[in-house]
Amino acid sequence: MIKAILLDIGNVIIDYFPERFVFNMKEQAGISEMDIVRYFLLQGGDKDYTEGKVTSDEFFDQVSSDLKFDLSKEKFKNIWNEIFGRKEDMESLIRKLKSSYPVWALSNTNDWHIEYVKVVYPILLELDQLFLSHELKCQKPDIEIYKKVLDATGLAPEEIFFTDDVKKNIDAAKKIGFKAHHFKSSEHFEHELKSLGVLL
Ligand SMILES: [Mg+2]
Repeated sequence: MIKAILLDIGNVIIDYFPERFVFNMKEQAGISEMDIVRYFLLQGGDKDYTEGKVTSDEFFDQVSSDLKFDLSKEKFKNIWNEIFGRKEDMESLIRKLKSSYPVWALSNTNDWHIEYVKVVYPILLELDQLFLSHELKCQKPDIEIYKKVLDATGLAPEEIFFTDDVKKNIDAAKKIGFKAHHFKSSEHFEHELKSLGVLL
């Protein structure tokens, strides 16, 4: 029986547009799209920041020296943060779920993002608990992070219904027994919840 709902944040609870970061870094810092993509996607330029191993200031110092740009920290922080959008259909779905289940989030994130999204998208403050990579010092799809959720909540994996837009995060969750759904749209997700009897 499902006892709790666990949601990814980016592209599930709120919209996520990393291409805005790429575009703005090109426009405002003169870094090519290829260089940005290579640094963050291929070289894992934000891995330590996502895992809480460096502070925001250390992350900024590292990125600005690796990519050789001279934006101020404030300017870079704005570009870094302005990649999200509201998903009103998910807000109402979360409120419906909350009348019967604890609703939690599990996100690969960092200090600057979470501080920003809590202010701009207050739906996050309505969740019962946030499990965040930079606080847990590990990230999806590492099995470690799912185990930390189980330890913290005392639930069995099959009692948690997890959704995420990234397939490898779903595969890892299923491997240790979570009920998991690959998120494509709120309609698709709602349909899945109804077919499992989670949502009436
Ligand atoms: Mg996501």
